[in-house]
Amino acid sequence: MKHLRKELWFNTKSRRDYINITPEVERAVAESGVREGLCLVNAMHITASVYINDAESGLIQDYDDWLEKLAPHEPVDQYQHNRTGEDNGDAHLKRQVMGREVVVAISEGKLDFGPWEQIYYAEFDGRRRKRALIKIIGE
Ligand code: ZN
Repeated sequence: MKHLRKELWFNTKSRRDYINITPEVERAVAESGVREGLCLVNAMHITASVYINDAESGLIQDYDDWLEKLAPHEPVDQYQHNRTGEDNGDAHLKRQVMGREVVVAISEGKLDFGPWEQIYYAEFDGRRRKRALIKIIGE
């Protein structure tokens, strides 16, 4: 069995950001030499997500607006979590909605996507160094 482990690092300028990481994941698949297998990508932080959807700017704005309605950042004192002195109570909740990880099949050496599927890293408490994990197994 072949396998590859790789970390992607981020340091977003804004608190929230949505980054298409499909090219990086495709490069990792090529690097792994796996033709048939599975590719896992997960956020390594509890205030960020990895998800799959369309690479469309309107949709990204819709996600951000929707998440901000569900769990607004302000006022920060509305969250019990922030009584610890943190201000990222909303980010924990946003991550829960958008998920921790994705798994994509690898077929004939390529990510076996459905139509328009792209892999995104979603940051909900950025402006510091954070990472996602890529793990590829197969043969
Ligand atoms: Zn926190």
